[in-house]
Amino acid sequence: NAKQDATFDVVVIGSGAGAMTAAIRAADQGLSVVVIEQSDQYGGTSAVSGGAVWIPNNHQIAALGGSDSADEALAYLKAATRGEVAEERLRAYVDGAPRMVRYLEEKTRLRYRAVPAYADYYQDLAGAKPGFRSMDPMPFHAAELGPEFLRLREQSPGMLVFGRMTMTTFEAHTLMSRMHGWKKVALGMGLRYWLDLPWRLRSRRDRRLAMGNALVGALRRSMMDRNIPLWLDTAFESLHMDGGRITGVALRRDGRPLRVDAARAVILAAGGFERNQEMRERYLPTPTSSRWSATPPVNSGAGIRAGMAVGAAVALMDQAWWTPTVAVPGEEKQRGLFFERHLPHSIVVNGRGQRFANEAGPYLDFVDAMYADHAKTGATLPAWLIFDAEFRRKYPCGPMLPGSVRPDGKLPPEWLGTVYHRADTLAGLARQIGVDAEGLARSVELNNSYAATGEDLQFGKGGNAYDRFYGDPSVRPNCCIGPISRGPFYAVPLDAGEIGTKGGLLTNEHAMVLDLAGAPIPGLYAIGNTSASITGRSYPGAGATLGPAMTFGFIAANHISGDS
Ligand code: FAD
Repeated sequence: NAKQDATFDVVVIGSGAGAMTAAIRAADQGLSVVVIEQSDQYGGTSAVSGGAVWIPNNHQIAALGGSDSADEALAYLKAATRGEVAEERLRAYVDGAPRMVRYLEEKTRLRYRAVPAYADYYQDLAGAKPGFRSMDPMPFHAAELGPEFLRLREQSPGMLVFGRMTMTTFEAHTLMSRMHGWKKVALGMGLRYWLDLPWRLRSRRDRRLAMGNALVGALRRSMMDRNIPLWLDTAFESLHMDGGRITGVALRRDGRPLRVDAARAVILAAGGFERNQEMRERYLPTPTSSRWSATPPVNSGAGIRAGMAVGAAVALMDQAWWTPTVAVPGEEKQRGLFFERHLPHSIVVNGRGQRFANEAGPYLDFVDAMYADHAKTGATLPAWLIFDAEFRRKYPCGPMLPGSVRPDGKLPPEWLGTVYHRADTLAGLARQIGVDAEGLARSVELNNSYAATGEDLQFGKGGNAYDRFYGDPSVRPNCCIGPISRGPFYAVPLDAGEIGTKGGLLTNEHAMVLDLAGAPIPGLYAIGNTSASITGRSYPGAGATLGPAMTFGFIAANHISGDS
């Protein structure tokens, strides 16, 4: 239904959450917009994500009993980014993020709710808050999308219970940490899922969308409300430049070239380069592999390369939104291990059997520590998550549900020796995975002494509110440290994975792409992982990738329409 050689005021490349926010805002500002997506499904990594956005000083905080201010948010971001990001961009974020989320709440079908205990990731920095800045999308019912639901990229299996049922971040946290009322939450989820009877006969897919699917589903529906065209199966190839200004894009559909003109601007929102092995090897620390990524196999840096081809500057190209991941046989992307490292009765070691970081630290910093330790020891890629039978019984890990729900005998047999290793003794486990047995024994001994005192004398695990968010509150004195003492013992290999790259086209406070001399390229904007992140080398809090992607989408649309 797409017209060839069409003209729109704004052409948006990619259909993640930032792209859709930009398109909706541009339409509300009276501009004509088209959204271009190469895949036959919309939503990109945004759709498979947790959907959380990090919105400091958001409008819900005071009503929920918290406190925040623009000054504190700016102080925190400045401390986290250590002078590497222009202050105007940080200010634009601190000012624009609450406005963006409020606009979406007032004008679209998307609703967010601030999560009280989701602490900022760097609790020791000035301006850090113990909660409320991370916001969780409210569930959205797929019936509102009609047949368009089937083109929404499916939620990651890691974000589903039993690979089927959706959960909000709140529900996930309640289940994982076995907080008060977790059994009721689990029962409610099961009943709701199975009682959706007519749909259950047709599909296993849950129609109560949560996390990234709720985010993208609600935005897609809001696009439909405005009749904003979404062209699927249409690949962006390059930018047209005329007289120093971006005037349109070259696309390809069904093997045929297509040109679309942009009367006002092109917004590049085509994700990062995580699925481009050649770019990974050129820019990221090595060894590196696109197979380690937890993202769908869609983003290959097309937006970044197109920007560079018209003279754009790039920054932070050696950075990614690191997260340790594990490969599951038969799955197209690896599973991110976001919370398992916080749980007691476990440690992470290198090939020498030694711990090398606070396991409960932010996932980005943890993989940074993996690379740093690998540079010293040559034995940290992969690292090994080691735990005992108590951990296995109580907690989920990667694709494994707690043993009390799904014991080893019920796991797919091919996971043994790939996703996890098991042995009756620690020495036997060490032999199996090629880790130094004496080193491992010593690390476990130290862990067990820290479990008794509650204090990790090496890395301070469990020492702050963020570490403890995913701990097990029933384990004392430190909810992140418990003895590793009951066999059998387990090991899960951790790759240096990511949930997207974070370097890209350098932009200004309006999301305009800058050239090598630092001047904006007229008509060209970049957001999300196509742009160099405003968070520098840090990960300030849950939602720090989608929050900026959507905020700068909003800011770009405002700027293009002359309302900034
Ligand atoms: P995407 O959402 O991937 O969108 C890019 C789109 O562009 C894709 O649909 C792609 O197909 C399309 N595209 C690429 N190339 C072309 C081309 N040549 N032509 C046309 N289209 C193209 N972040 C958070 O902030 N909060 C979270 O809770 C969170 N949870 C996560 C959980 C998981 C399991 C994962 C994997 C990630 C999570 N993230 C989270 C990270 C976040 O999802 C990504 O960083 C974010 O979605 C990136 O947004 P984007 O718009 O840059 O890219």
